[in-house]
Amino acid sequence: LGLEAVKKTLDKKAFDEVKLNPRIRAKNKELYGEDLTAAQIVDRIVNEVRQDGDAAIIKYTKLLDGAEFTAKDFLVTEAEYETAYAQADTKIVESLRKAIENVRRYHQEQKPNSWITYRAHGSILGQSVIPLDRVGVYVPGGTAAYPSSVVMNVVPAKVAGVKEIVMMAPPSRDGKLNPYVLIAAKEAGVNAIYKIGGAQAIAAMAFGTQTIPKVDKITGPGNIFVTLAKKAVYGHCDIDMLAGPSEILIVADKTADPVYTAADMLSQAEHDMLASSIVLTDDAKLADKVLAEVEKQLAKLPRKEIASASLEKNGRIILTENLMQAFELANYSAPEHMEILTENPFTYLPYVRHAGAVFLGAYSPEPLGDYFAGPNHVLPTGGTARYYSVLNTETFMKRTSIISYTQPALQEVSSDIIRLAKAEGLDAHANAIILRGENND
Ligand code: NAD
Repeated sequence: LGLEAVKKTLDKKAFDEVKLNPRIRAKNKELYGEDLTAAQIVDRIVNEVRQDGDAAIIKYTKLLDGAEFTAKDFLVTEAEYETAYAQADTKIVESLRKAIENVRRYHQEQKPNSWITYRAHGSILGQSVIPLDRVGVYVPGGTAAYPSSVVMNVVPAKVAGVKEIVMMAPPSRDGKLNPYVLIAAKEAGVNAIYKIGGAQAIAAMAFGTQTIPKVDKITGPGNIFVTLAKKAVYGHCDIDMLAGPSEILIVADKTADPVYTAADMLSQAEHDMLASSIVLTDDAKLADKVLAEVEKQLAKLPRKEIASASLEKNGRIILTENLMQAFELANYSAPEHMEILTENPFTYLPYVRHAGAVFLGAYSPEPLGDYFAGPNHVLPTGGTARYYSVLNTETFMKRTSIISYTQPALQEVSSDIIRLAKAEGLDAHANAIILRGENND
């Protein structure tokens, strides 16, 4: 195809350009009585929740999730946690605890420190790193349940020292949450869970309602409605990033195992019809083998409908002239997950410029990072790895500058400050310095 043409096939759409598929559009027409774009739907829901609070949440929870709640039913009760533990497989709970411990250890190492430094004449400069007071974590749950997302959002917030963590996840039709989502939240240290999903959950956390507290920052992934709602409320509170459908990009040479390569493509394809799975290889034989293997493994997957729709739309096996060209295309794509399945994979790490997370070698498949190794799985998608970082401990902290000068220290620099203030026409700024000293030429 040629490099530029291949790059075009890797181009990604911005969130507000995403077109809903015809089936969802038809359903929306039924729900809303008119043909609305996802952004219009989100604006409507966010504005109603901002204005009417709990009443709007009750309305949309019934309309979109089919659960009939009053305002007091949103909050998960102690009895619901107890039922969840009673239903749970203890082995899964044990695995969750191990995952929490690994994620905690990793994020502890990320924790930035406050510091102070000394300058001339006894003056002091520094930086305090302070945890946020209250954060809201969104845990998606429309088509699958994600206890791992609970862990990946809540544990870094805890490590950061956030005082209060509230969580939101959409209820099933009978008003329940997945037991492992509840258990993960309890084990990780969430303060309150509300059974609310979609744009209405994001708006509730951003503006607060009669029963739900307003938060300082919202984190966590979700579908197009959740993501557009985060974009809409940004500024009323902070958000982590705009995380979209999952992506994997694998750079493979002739030494890669086609069985592993195909399995890793499918591990993302099964997430979402909009997910993308790409292999870049310089070996034509491997490309053929991966294709055959994908077909074989796909046939056995319970979620094969989602996976095959995703592969049909956004699945690619691309033959490159050499591995350097593969990395050029990989950086162009800026994938959420990048796997390097080559001989001596660390040789290529310096060539990786844009990726949410990099997995090196045959025994570091992407699900290792999704669930267990310790690094975070909330990662930039849609090409935003060019400028966003993976969710991390500092996501839940902010920096405050510390400045303390002594009189002699201020005296020494006063003429510079006065000059700069006057150059900007800000005489009151200059006065604040002039009134503190004599050396005012
Ligand atoms: P979700 O919780 O994001 O969305 C469910 C909610 O969407 C519902 O509660 C409803 O309020 C809203 N909704 C559904 N249809 C609507 C409509 N027609 N109008 C208005 N609102 C509507 O769960 P989901 O749908 O399963 O999506 C989960 C997403 O999260 C997937 O894209 C998945 O790939 C992604 N995900 C990403 C990560 C990551 O780390 N990047 C992790 C887990 C999941």
